[in-house]
Amino acid sequence: MTFMRILIIGNSAAGTAAIETIRSQDNESSIVQISDETHPLYSRCLLSYYLAGKIEKNDLSFRSADFHKSMNVELHPGRYVEEVDPLGQKVACTDGSIHAYDKLLIATGSSAKVPDHIPGNLEGVFVLRTLTDAEAIKRQLPGAKKAVILGGGLVGMRAADALSRAGLKVFVIVGSNRILSRMIDAEAARIVLNTVRDNDIEVMTGADVSEVLQKDGKVVGVMADNGLMLDCEILVVAKSVRANTDLIRDTDIKTRWGIVTNASMLTNYENIYAAGDVAETFDMTAEEYTVNALWTCAVQQGRVAGRNIAGTPAQYAGSVAMNALNFWGIPIISFGVAAPEDESPYTILKDSRPAQNIYKKVVIANNRIKGLILMGQVANAGVLFSLIQNKMDVSPFMDQLLSDRFNFGSVAGQGGKSVLEKYYRGQSV
Ligand SMILES: Cc1cc2nc3c(=O)[nH]c(=O)nc-3n(C[C@H](O)[C@H](O)[C@H](O)COP(=O)(O)OP(=O)(O)OC[C@H]3O[C@@H](n4cnc5c(N)ncnc54)[C@H](O)[C@@H]3O)c2cc1C
Repeated sequence: MTFMRILIIGNSAAGTAAIETIRSQDNESSIVQISDETHPLYSRCLLSYYLAGKIEKNDLSFRSADFHKSMNVELHPGRYVEEVDPLGQKVACTDGSIHAYDKLLIATGSSAKVPDHIPGNLEGVFVLRTLTDAEAIKRQLPGAKKAVILGGGLVGMRAADALSRAGLKVFVIVGSNRILSRMIDAEAARIVLNTVRDNDIEVMTGADVSEVLQKDGKVVGVMADNGLMLDCEILVVAKSVRANTDLIRDTDIKTRWGIVTNASMLTNYENIYAAGDVAETFDMTAEEYTVNALWTCAVQQGRVAGRNIAGTPAQYAGSVAMNALNFWGIPIISFGVAAPEDESPYTILKDSRPAQNIYKKVVIANNRIKGLILMGQVANAGVLFSLIQNKMDVSPFMDQLLSDRFNFGSVAGQGGKSVLEKYYRGQSV
């Protein structure tokens, strides 16, 4: 094995997965990792539970405190890479340090976007992206009575839930016509919305904040673009995220939605890889290049990048928009093309039982499942995922797909036996 200087920028899901994969094959090469964060490894997905007081700070860790030592990684926390020099094979940090590399992985993730008309530096205005953000919101809680959340996606609704559980009156302002619009369709969103409102959280859709009201340097309310004025001591902006690509802005590393990568997670440089929220990949079900800013995608991409860096070729099959969550007792799984704007090219199967908070939907094209929503009843998610990943022709049992009793047995005699065998061997089917 040839000794290499491996440099990883970013210390989260993708960077960690890459380190573990590299070290499973190469104990000789040096690995240097740089991150501008200083906290020990933590899961962003759990931040809202920490904010709600449901879990402690220690519970956010997803690797032990000695992870970097055990992996023989030289970690530089609190250091920000401002420039990558692909030809010189080195990076420069804002503290003046320079790090040379033979192979580089950019795993810098994404950041919360704050629209220009929102004064992001005003006291009481927050985003929820990092542990530092969550701690800052927590410090603001004593004495706060009302919060406004701008954005009704996964992070916005989780923030709303957390602040409501922390005892605040919460109002959510959503730009689109429904909550969780990237995950579920209008019918499913209506069912969730009823539960959200039952939990004393107000939601206004199709609206934006036109002005942030302030007094003595602090937020005291917002004016919505429909003229409604809302008091609040906390405003959480959860509109969307953007890939952290500033460090390569002066290079010719290709970017579009994120850093453009191929199936090896390589950029247009043969020794520079990208993985995670910063990387643009092929979406298997949407069949287009995009950034699926999800933890599972970041881990898988980090692993593929790690294999290729270590010299054991691996190909990424592609990303899929996939979310599994539980809102106020309603389990929700959404996968792939679950809520297409235009449903006309698809065959859509639905089972809607709002009174029981149950909604199931399968989106099919060319007899293959492209996406699904399972809400309230998620027991047959495993078999449906396998059919999607295996691109299986579902026409022989299409009428049974949404049945509560649909399982591997239902497909076994219809060419599904191999799917079943792979599933139980733990292979990706
Ligand atoms: C509140 C919340 C809830 C979420 N819930 C879910 C969920 O339920 N399911 C799910 O799949 N996903 C969820 N996500 C998304 C998930 O957390 C991300 O997809 C995942 O963290 C991406 O990992 P990553 O390694 O690509 O990047 P990140 O986790 O963004 O980490 C990138 C790291 O690089 C550092 N960095 C960036 N630029 C530089 C630089 N120039 N120099 C040095 N360091 C730099 C950053 O500070 C950061 O530490 C959630 C996210 C949030 C914020």
